[in-house]
Amino acid sequence: MYTMRTLTKELQEKITPQEALDILKRGNQRFVNNLKENRNLLQQANDTRAGQWPFAVILSCIDSRTSAELIFDQGLGDIFSIRIAGNIINTDILGSMEFACKLSGAKLIVVLGHDNCGAIKGACDHVEMGNLTELLAKLQPAVYEEKTVTKAEERNSSNDKFVENVTLLNMKRSVKSIVSRSYILEQMVEKGEIDIIGAIHNLESGVVQFYEDAYVANKKDVTASLSEKKDLAAKAKA
Ligand SMILES: [Zn+2]
Repeated sequence: MYTMRTLTKELQEKITPQEALDILKRGNQRFVNNLKENRNLLQQANDTRAGQWPFAVILSCIDSRTSAELIFDQGLGDIFSIRIAGNIINTDILGSMEFACKLSGAKLIVVLGHDNCGAIKGACDHVEMGNLTELLAKLQPAVYEEKTVTKAEERNSSNDKFVENVTLLNMKRSVKSIVSRSYILEQMVEKGEIDIIGAIHNLESGVVQFYEDAYVANKKDVTASLSEKKDLAAKAKA
């Protein structure tokens, strides 16, 4: 029986950012169709004992239903997985991404949001509790950016559409934050060494939808992303 190969330095170097995206798309199709690739994880543990050459880094939520390795059908040594409630960006997460891409050769960064996210719902309801308060504060800009729901009584977690809009906005803001807050990663995109893309995982169907309008793949995308950021800052000041 064919067994999925473990990544080596040589294999990782050959993968382009676009191919990295295709590998994840195909992996998610397998997951959705319940066609898991055959992997010998014990063998992979042995194969990777001296080093790792993952092709992608995925920032996703801690939610128990959105495990990146499972929903993209990946094995040991395939992806760097960063997980935090609400897939927010902070300095430590940017540092982890810089490590994954600049030092370890990953070709793609995915910011993966998901529907029915407890963290997003908490932010929509302005929940305050212990250290969670500070984490949810990082989701507030997405809540404020949502302008389509105008009635105050409808701007909470009981409104599915509002939650969905905030989820999408938060994912897109995280993509932009990577470009605007990490000079190293911005430069890697401009040189064609990595791509960054946003996606949303549907918990019920398992389908991951990638967003072309949250795809930063070249200098033009970087410039557009940064200027959009400036526009938002100018609007916030006005
Ligand atoms: Zn979540």
